[in-house]
Parts: sequence; structure tokens; C-alpha cells
Amino acid sequence: MEKGEIKKNLIAIVGNDGLLTDTLMRDHTSFRVGGAADFLVLPETPEQLTAVLAFCRKSGEPFYLMGNGSNLLVRDGGYRGIMIKTRAMDAISVKGTQLSIEAGAMLRKAAAVALDHHLSGMAFASGIPGSVGGAVVMNAGAYGGEMQDIVESIEVVTERGEYKKIPGNACHFGYRKSIIQENPWTILRINLGLSPGDYNTIKSEMDDFNRRRREKQPLDMPSAGSTFRRPEGFFAGKLVQDAGFKGYRVGGAQVSEKHSGFVVNAGGATAEDILTLIKTIQDGVKKQFGVELKTEVIVIGEV
Ligand SMILES: Cc1cc2nc3c(=O)[nH]c(=O)nc-3n(C[C@H](O)[C@H](O)[C@H](O)COP(=O)(O)OP(=O)(O)OC[C@H]3O[C@@H](n4cnc5c(N)ncnc54)[C@H](O)[C@@H]3O)c2cc1C
Repeated sequence: MEKGEIKKNLIAIVGNDGLLTDTLMRDHTSFRVGGAADFLVLPETPEQLTAVLAFCRKSGEPFYLMGNGSNLLVRDGGYRGIMIKTRAMDAISVKGTQLSIEAGAMLRKAAAVALDHHLSGMAFASGIPGSVGGAVVMNAGAYGGEMQDIVESIEVVTERGEYKKIPGNACHFGYRKSIIQENPWTILRINLGLSPGDYNTIKSEMDDFNRRRREKQPLDMPSAGSTFRRPEGFFAGKLVQDAGFKGYRVGGAQVSEKHSGFVVNAGGATAEDILTLIKTIQDGVKKQFGVELKTEVIVIGEV
């Protein structure tokens, strides 16, 4: 379909303010790298998102759905097609001990709402800079908690445009994985089951986790969090450090001096710098310790 025609169709769904064209993905990802996407759509409701997906599928245009871009590395050539970002779709409602959350709401915001309602179970997630949808896809976790502990159900739209409600125990959660990684489905809404708690206890738990995070992680530098998945029986950061890569640089990409499990953008990095550094680390760790490091970060886009 011609670009002007795509634009007209998308504006009909999300309005002028909900569509950006030729926009740099470095402005939409936590790594602060990545070339331009032809279109970036920002639906504000699950209905708008469903309509955008239906248009993409019907027109055959390539599309990619992202949350807050905190686990994504977009290559320097950008993305040819329609990038859909859920961040503006962020309503949260509370019923008793249940939170019903639109997929683009930030974990930080959901954790703050839970705290306001004296609900415990989300402290582990309060410092993870992702959307709740992205966190379910990745089964994000920290400090002994994971999304699978609190997901009661998710509401998704399938590749055929059908609506499905999936109970948490059928989401195939595992270490940084979920049923969404096995199927071309989109999460519209997440229902979390929390427990009644004491405001001050929950607040001090959150403060403690966030203090530990600030002490250990290079939060002052752009990154996508842990670059590598935890290999069985090892810690990725320790392997990277023991292989001598702490502080190692390729162009503007660097292994953090503070935490070797994080590759950071130390200033002006390109996606190519980051990918070259990742490959160098993988080769070095394999050669020295015989362990294959797999990336947790998801790589998309054109070279
Ligand atoms: C400083 C820092 C610290 C971090 N700490 C942690 C941590 O402690 N623990 C942890 O687990 N992670 C951590 N991360 C990684 C990241 O924040 C999580 O993986 C997060 O859950 C990703 O959410 P997102 O919305 O940014 O997803 P994105 O990066 O935008 O997307 C991730 C994947 O989810 C898919 N996706 C997103 N939304 C939807 C949806 N609604 N429906 C279907 N698919 C969707 C995307 O297509 C993509 O495949 C950290 C990252 C940073 C930058």
C-alpha cells in the first residue's frame, strides 16, 4: 500500500496526534539507539489498538508491537513498516484486591496504584522500567518476584482478531518467557491478583528494592537492563567480568563498570557498536568458559 494511504487509514483510527512518521526509534527505546520507523502509532485504548492491528493484518504491512522499549534494541537502519507503541494505553482500575490494567501502563504506575490501595505483591516490579504488557511477555522479575506470581489472567487479541481471556496458570510462564512468545498475540489488558497489606511495609519494601537497584545498576546510563539471559548454573554478569570484559568498549557501547551484566550506551553508541560488543563478549565467554550467553534483549529492525 502507498505511504499516503497507510497514513490516512492510521489517522482515521488514532487521530493526527496518535501517529508519528519517520520517527527515530532512539527516542522511543531505553538504549537510546535505533534509526527511524516509517510509522509509529500510539493507540490510546484497547479498541484503537485492535483496529490498528486489524488494519496492519488486512493491508499486509509489516508491523511490530512494543511497550516501553526497555528490552529492545532497534538496529541503525530503523524499521520499515508500522511500529505500534502501547504506552498511551494506560488506564488502571481497582476492584477489591484486583488490578485491571491496560497493557501500556508502566509497572511503576501500577505498583504506585497498588501501594495507594494498600495492596501487596508488586514491590518487586516497582523499579522495572517496562509496561505491564511487556513485563507479562517477558515474565519480568526481580528480588525473588516474577509477573507469574501475580497475573490472574490476561486479555489478548489473536492473529485472527479474536478476543481471548487466558488464566495466569495457562500462560506458560518460565524464566523470562510466556505464552505470548509462542503465539502472534497481543495483550490488551492484564488482571493482577494482589493481597491486602500494610502501607508502610509495602512502601519500605519498594524503597529497599529501589535503593539496592540504584546501588548495583548503572541507572544513569541508557541500557536495556540485563543484556544476557542467566545461563543455567552461572551468573551472566560474573562470567562477563571474569572473562575480562568489565568496562570494555566498542565505539560508544560499553560493558558497565558498575554491573558487568549490563551493556550500556556510554555516549553516541550505534546499534552496530552494541551488537559488535555483544558478539565479542559471547565469543570471549564461550572460549574461556565454554558457556553460551544468549541475549535477553530483543533485536529488531534493519541494518
Ligand atoms: C535499567 C533497566 C532495568 C531493568 N531491570 C529489569 C529487571 O529487574 N527484571 C526484568 O525482568 N527486566 C528488567 N529490565 C528489562 C525490561 O524492563 C523488561 O523486560 C520489561 O518487562 C520490558 O517491558 P517493555 O514494555 O519495555 O517491553 P518492550 O521492550 O517494549 O517489548 C518487549 C517484548 O514484549 C512485546 N510486547 C510488549 N508489549 C506487548 C503487548 N501488549 N502484547 C504483546 N507483546 C508485547 C514486544 O513485542 C517485545 O517482544 C530492565 C531494563 C532496564 C532498561
